[in-house]
Amino acid sequence: MATRLPGIFVAGDAANYPSKLHLIAGAISDAALAINSAKLFLDPTAPKTAQMSSNSTRFTERNKALGL
Ligand SMILES: Cc1cc2nc3c(=O)[nH]c(=O)nc-3n(C[C@H](O)[C@H](O)[C@H](O)COP(=O)(O)OP(=O)(O)OC[C@H]3O[C@@H](n4cnc5c(N)ncnc54)[C@H](O)[C@@H]3O)c2cc1C
Repeated sequence: MATRLPGIFVAGDAANYPSKLHLIAGAISDAALAINSAKLFLDPTAPKTAQMSSNSTRFTERNKALGL
């Protein structure tokens, strides 16, 4: 989701690539990729994959505090 401007990423209908889906689902997928790209731009040593809510240590701690 990179643009020709370093550090600027794009998502949704503004993005264009050969397999682009100009649909809401495509925009959501682009957004996740753009955010992950921005994360890796800011911190190239960060994990390459996104953390899932089901294995989020932060969510687990919060749920424990709530007694869940
Ligand atoms: C008639 C029509 C029907 C569609 N039907 C479907 C459908 O049934 N299912 C489906 O999945 N997809 C459908 N789509 C496609 C879907 O709407 C788009 O893919 C989706 O809305 C893209 O989301 P987006 O956030 O990238 O862009 P947008 O939803 O267009 O959002 C961009 C926003 O940025 C704002 N904006 C523009 N310029 C500026 C600026 N300079 N400063 C600040 N804000 C700005 C705009 O006002 C707009 O609110 C349809 C599209 C159209 C046109």
